[in-house]
Amino acid sequence: MSPDPDCIFCKIVAGQIPSRKVYEDDELLAFHDINPWAPVHFLIVPKVHIPSMAQLTPEHERLMGRLMVLAPKLALEQGCLPYPQGGFRIVCNTGEHGGQEVHHLHVHVIGGPRPWRKG
Ligand code: C5P
Repeated sequence: MSPDPDCIFCKIVAGQIPSRKVYEDDELLAFHDINPWAPVHFLIVPKVHIPSMAQLTPEHERLMGRLMVLAPKLALEQGCLPYPQGGFRIVCNTGEHGGQEVHHLHVHVIGGPRPWRKG
């Protein structure tokens, strides 16, 4: 899908809105959440505009597989302690009832020493 001119994450991907970047390649971007719930809280987004998980099709399997394999690697790099004593939480809000506010698919990667709110 082409970039959505009204999408804040498409603007972050395009560099039109600043973000604190964690990781970038040709398909994926990770950046720190501006309103963190925990000591580690960053988002991973596909660069392509996919509104939510609800729009995923089989052609996205490789992309989403890459995203999910990237998440634990970046979590460790960002200070989450190793599994099982450490670990992290992945959240992917989908749709209004799923609590999604930004309609560009993203996963939250949340961790660090507790306590922190569950969001
Ligand atoms: O999953 P949901 O859509 O509710 O979360 C969107 C997240 O995007 C929020 O946690 C918000 O803080 C974050 N955000 C951000 N940078 C922006 C706008 C939103 O990190 N410029």
